[in-house]
Amino acid sequence: MAKKVEKNNKPQGRPNFSNKKVEKKVEPKEKVIIYKNGMTVLEVAEGFSKPVSLIITKLMQLGVFANQNQSVERDMVELLSIDFGYELKDEVVTDLSRFEEIKIEDDLKDLKPRPPVVTIMGHVDHGKTTLLDTIRSSRITAKEAGGITQHIGAYQVNHNGYPITFIDTPGHAAFTEMRARGAKITDMVVLVVAADDGVMPQTEEAIAHAKAAGCPIIVAINKMDKPNANPERVTQELANLGLVSDSWGGDTPFVNISALKGMGVDNLLEMIELVANLNELKANPNRAALGTVIEAKLDKGKGPLATLLVQNGTLHVGDIIICGNTYGKIRTMEDDRNIRYQDALPSTALAVTGLNDVPQAGDKFIVVKEERIARDAANARAKRAKESTNVVKKLSFDELLSNANKDKTKELNLIIKCDVQGSVEALKNSLEKINVEDLRVTVVRSSVGAITDTDVSLAEASDAIIIGFNVRPMSNVRNLASEKHIEIRLYDVIYKVIDDITLALKGMLEPVYEEVVIGEAEVRSIFKNSIVGTIAGCYVTDGVIERNSLVRVLRNGIVIYSGKMASLRRFKDDVKEVKQGYECGITIEKYSDLKEGDVIEASIMKEVSR
Ligand code: GDP
Repeated sequence: MAKKVEKNNKPQGRPNFSNKKVEKKVEPKEKVIIYKNGMTVLEVAEGFSKPVSLIITKLMQLGVFANQNQSVERDMVELLSIDFGYELKDEVVTDLSRFEEIKIEDDLKDLKPRPPVVTIMGHVDHGKTTLLDTIRSSRITAKEAGGITQHIGAYQVNHNGYPITFIDTPGHAAFTEMRARGAKITDMVVLVVAADDGVMPQTEEAIAHAKAAGCPIIVAINKMDKPNANPERVTQELANLGLVSDSWGGDTPFVNISALKGMGVDNLLEMIELVANLNELKANPNRAALGTVIEAKLDKGKGPLATLLVQNGTLHVGDIIICGNTYGKIRTMEDDRNIRYQDALPSTALAVTGLNDVPQAGDKFIVVKEERIARDAANARAKRAKESTNVVKKLSFDELLSNANKDKTKELNLIIKCDVQGSVEALKNSLEKINVEDLRVTVVRSSVGAITDTDVSLAEASDAIIIGFNVRPMSNVRNLASEKHIEIRLYDVIYKVIDDITLALKGMLEPVYEEVVIGEAEVRSIFKNSIVGTIAGCYVTDGVIERNSLVRVLRNGIVIYSGKMASLRRFKDDVKEVKQGYECGITIEKYSDLKEGDVIEASIMKEVSR
């Protein structure tokens, strides 16, 4: 090969004054990756001819947790292309049934500042709803006071002439759900932490989600009116989690507020404005609109009602849109105060009517020219969605491992939830030390508390498996996990977790028996009996309870006792099983400390084939 090059590159038409052989470097064939909008991690890996695991790892290093089926933003692909020495070119798409992939570029001169879109997150009872209400009512003039408002999932306030849009579904579900679907709707997160309570599990969860989404965070230390408010402690706790207050020289803005008394809320709004300005949020108001569905429902009177967040362009009454798998002509647009609008500028969220069906939260929309085009595109999308429902499936533990061996995945992602902090640390440290032939464990998140739906969303977003140690998911969370094909593995002995993971990494995991949860009952009343001890009067809320079940007693999602059932009765009779919807009396061997509100989870050991 080298010879050939030499020969081919003999200088022509120019004397060679040197005695040296003329050697011209072989130019490597140009490496190009074609970026497609909405490209998944898997497709990116194929584009670069690299293993999926490498792409996932690189993305994690960039703070993006995505599984192989999730889409990657263009910026990220661009960073990867620099890293891998590829040139990035954009695919030219014109098919409107794939409108999310159509490249939309605005001339810089057309871009105008747009208001920020803000989500409020934090632990339960720390004051998210109160803060949203206080901000909402701050804009209401005397004339409007008492006016009827409707919940549309978002509202806009005008703070001294500066508009700010709030997504008013407090909590994490909406945020993570959207993110799991690849939609980015918020520009920043306000993290509410109660000054009298400090950092709590959901505070940490919110930080993990906001960071994973690459959203700037503003900390609002709330309940400053309380005599036992201790903002210094909160600041310290947050610093330990990497959110260092600006007043301590860090780069996270902290604002002290009392959502209840309205104190400091003005400062918070100013801070939001400042952060928004720093981030130079811009859009082109003079283009056809596009954006995302925040909420959608079927309204009895109005028909399909969808709250659309306009992320670029301006949406007008009469515009024709494709919206997820639905389409329509915008008939009306209303805000939460029932005020009607003709036009919705960028960063505005309004409830619109006129769609042929109810889209899903997180769906994208775009304005097109003709109704026929919109209908055809929406129908094509609906058809495609139907065809692919059976294809999209999360990887199970085993599949992940067999993939690990196949394409040399170097990491197994885990989310660890435990009953006490000591176990969190012990597990995390031991698991992260496991190293089997270069396969490693990455703990995406570890904390104290029950397994919640947000853990499931995070597991979905980061392709992780959830390990529960002495904690259990409630049935709704378990159902969500099975719907999303997220694996939850439950343990009560540390070495068993380590053994399983080590064996799994060695590809030798062979559990013969698996515990299968068969039902759940809620303790509604307690009877003391001198002979049999404590009888729990229960109501079976899920599945079936069998007499020979193993039982776990859960209080607030935390396992407080594990053992065997001693007796199961309906009225005065011993019975073999009690199904969902029926009442029964349960006693537990060697355990009498039951309380009303406890949940008794019944399970059996079942042989599983691998
Ligand atoms: P969320 O679960 O985070 O939405 O919390 P809520 O907004 O429902 O607030 C929980 C409780 O804390 C309610 O009883 C509120 O009245 C109270 N609360 C919220 N903000 C404040 C505050 O600034 N000061 C005081 N003293 N109580 C507050």
